[in-house]
Amino acid sequence: MTYKQMSILTDVTQCIGCDKCVEACREENDLPPDKPWRWLRDITDLSTSRWTTVMRVKGDQGDRFVRRHCRHCLEPACVEACIVGALKKTPEGPVIYDRDICIGCRYCMIACPFEIPRYSWEDTVPYVQKCDLCYDRVQSEGKPPACVEACPSEATIFGEREELLEEARRRLAAEPQKYVQRIRGEREVGGTSVLHISDVDINLTDLDTAISDETPMPGRTFKVLQHMPTVFVQMAVVMGGLFWVIERRERLASERAAQAQKEEDAASPDGEGVDAAADSADSEDSNTPKGAE
Ligand code: SF4
Ligand code: SF4
Ligand code: SF4
Repeated sequence: MTYKQMSILTDVTQCIGCDKCVEACREENDLPPDKPWRWLRDITDLSTSRWTTVMRVKGDQGDRFVRRHCRHCLEPACVEACIVGALKKTPEGPVIYDRDICIGCRYCMIACPFEIPRYSWEDTVPYVQKCDLCYDRVQSEGKPPACVEACPSEATIFGEREELLEEARRRLAAEPQKYVQRIRGEREVGGTSVLHISDVDINLTDLDTAISDETPMPGRTFKVLQHMPTVFVQMAVVMGGLFWVIERRERLASERAAQAQKEEDAASPDGEGVDAAADSADSEDSNTPKGAE
């Protein structure tokens, strides 16, 4: 089945906070277990092991559980900010990421108004991670997103954006006393493919980091990017320096190995040649300024 604009609607009033969506997402995307990394303020926050999370929100009428993940904005600031096109808005709605193109500049993280993308600092070659709305699963297998399929209370449902907006309007109209008369994601930042309805104003939760107007973010992103060249040049200098240090280390190591081999080949039976090679390598090492390695 092809959806015109794949979307998710979460009804906060139906969420029981069971975290089944979080676990299903982890399994579907082969994400590791949660780990208390130094830079993680809260282990239940979005991270490279959690592309979605369920936040407990305290309110006057009791606790609520609110799912958080990429909103798949209709006009995504992350896509606009990415200078190499590693992030792409697909015609079907999901905003997807190509790690092979990404250069690690992380402008997308600066640009995202919802503070969604995470960076896998723990990896040798880090990259950006976020929910992709199960793009491949939906397109290739015709299944709904894993998180939606796993939800036992149908708090989170999947479908075409216009139909989900209709469903949200129907629920708001059917129980006007119960619901806040607002569909989160209908218009904020130009509209998103992830929608929320609730009986509490979830903007009070800081989830939206004070974003409530309807201006698409890319226009603002452009203003930020106007200031980027200086930063970019500085970053290029730092990256160039790092590359030089790493390349030099590798070159020294290979020169030492070649020298040691040569000395070994020419060594006398009592091993003097091998010792000489080691001494030579040590001597070169001790002459290397500390800051250069
Ligand atoms: S929520 Fe952030 S990461 Fe997701 S599409 Fe919008 S700008 Fe991009
Ligand atoms: S849509 Fe897919 S990637 Fe996004 S939170 Fe749900 S399971 Fe995870
Ligand atoms: S699986 Fe459904 S009910 Fe459970 S936490 Fe996720 S959205 Fe809420």
